[in-house]
Amino acid sequence: MRLIDADVIIARCETVEQNNELSATEANRLVWLKEMIKMMHTIDPVRHGEWVATDDPWFSACSVCGYIEYECVGSNYCPECGTKMDGGKDEESEE
Ligand SMILES: [Zn+2]
Repeated sequence: MRLIDADVIIARCETVEQNNELSATEANRLVWLKEMIKMMHTIDPVRHGEWVATDDPWFSACSVCGYIEYECVGSNYCPECGTKMDGGKDEESEE
């Protein structure tokens, strides 16, 4: 699998469209391509964090979004932002 930036592709398609040098068939293909890209499923990068103790021992906070959860021990993901609670670092900062 190769991750691509769909927004960049769509922006480039729109730049080509604005040049008005396309035949009707080419323009239709470009519209079709943009629609196909917009329909694709997206995969958000996995965020990593941990539950952080709060002043109240019954509550913990997500280290990424601050969401506070009651008795979250054992919860592997933040229900608010989806962060994986494995204490690791984000993929972008691992390099
Ligand atoms: Zn969160």
